Amino acid sequence: MKIQNVAVIGTGILGTQIAIQAACHNYKVAVFDLDAASWARVLERLKIRMQNSSRKPTIPWPQMKRGAKLVTQCASLKEAVAGTDLVIEAVPENLALKRKVFRELDIMAPRKAILATNSSSIPVSRLEKATNRPEKCLNIHFYSLDQGRNIVDVMGGTRTLPRIIKTGKEWVQSIGCIPLTVKKEILGFCFNRVWRAIKREALYMWAGGFVDFRDIDRGWMNWSGMSLGPFGLMDGVGLDVVYDIEMVYYQESKDPKDRPPQALKAMIDRGNLGVKTGRGFYVYPDPEFRRPGFLRASP
Ligand code: NAD
Repeated sequence: MKIQNVAVIGTGILGTQIAIQAACHNYKVAVFDLDAASWARVLERLKIRMQNSSRKPTIPWPQMKRGAKLVTQCASLKEAVAGTDLVIEAVPENLALKRKVFRELDIMAPRKAILATNSSSIPVSRLEKATNRPEKCLNIHFYSLDQGRNIVDVMGGTRTLPRIIKTGKEWVQSIGCIPLTVKKEILGFCFNRVWRAIKREALYMWAGGFVDFRDIDRGWMNWSGMSLGPFGLMDGVGLDVVYDIEMVYYQESKDPKDRPPQALKAMIDRGNLGVKTGRGFYVYPDPEFRRPGFLRASP
C-alpha cells in the first residue's frame, strides 16, 4: 500500500510536528483540531523551544516554517480525512476521548486508510474495538522532533496485519525517522518505558522531599551530558500531559507507587504546566538550568 495523503487529528505540540515532518517529506497533509487557533499558537511555541534548545531538530526552523504552509487546515474531521491513506490522531492522552476519535475516524475515513494513534501510553488494542478495521490499526508513537528525537515506536494491536505494520514502518522511515518495533504488546512501548522509569523515580524523590528537583536535573545533566534534566524535560512535555500519562500506568497497575504525586497535580491546578504556560518546575523563557554555573553547584 502506498501512502500519499496523511491526516493528523489534533494539532497540539506533537500533532503539529508530525504534520510538518510529513509535509516536508512530500506528503499531502491535512489537519483538524477542535481549537482552530492551536496551530498558530503551537508554531510560536515550537519556535521558542527550538531557539532555547541546544539540540539539533530533525528539521531546522526556516524549513519547518515553510513546511507548515504546505499543510491544509480543515474545518472538520470529515474534511481532514477525506481521501486519506493514513490518519494519525494526536488528541490528548485520554482513553475515552481517543476511543471516540477512533470511532469517528472509522466512520469518516476511507476503508483503505490506516488508523494510527500517537498515544504515549495507550496500546492500540484498547482502541481498535471502536472501529470495524482492527487489522488496519496501529500505534505510531513519535517523540519530540523539534529536539531531534527522530525515533518512533511502532506497535500493532491484536489483529493488525503484518503488511500494515510494514507500511507504517516504511512511512516512518520515509519521513526521516527511525522506527523501533515493539514485537509484543507492552504499555509504554519501547523507549518511552525507559524514560518513564526515570521520570517516576525523579517525581517520587522530589514530591517526598528527598532531593531538590534542581539537584536531580544537575546530576542527570552532568552524568549524561544532556542540556536539560528530567524536570526540564517534563516542563517541555507539559506537566498536564505527564500527569495524564502517569495516570494511564496507574490505572493499569493500581499500584500506589505508580500514582503521580499530589504535588504534581497541585502544580497543574495552579496552571503551572511548564514551558507552555511560562512556569512549571522552572520559569521560562529563562530557566535556571540554562544559566551559567547551574551545573556546578546547588543554590
Ligand atoms: P496537546 O494538549 O498539546 O494537544 C492536543 C490537541 O488536541 C489540542 O490542540 C486540542 O485542542 C486537540 N483536540 C482535543 N480533542 C480533539 C478532538 N476531539 N478532535 C480534534 N482535536 C482535538 O497534546 P500533545 O502533547 O500534542 O499530545 C497529543 C498526544 O500525543 C497524546 O496522546 C500524547 O500522549 C502524545 N504524545 C505527546 C508527547 C509530548 O511530548 N507532549 C510526546 C509523544 C506523544
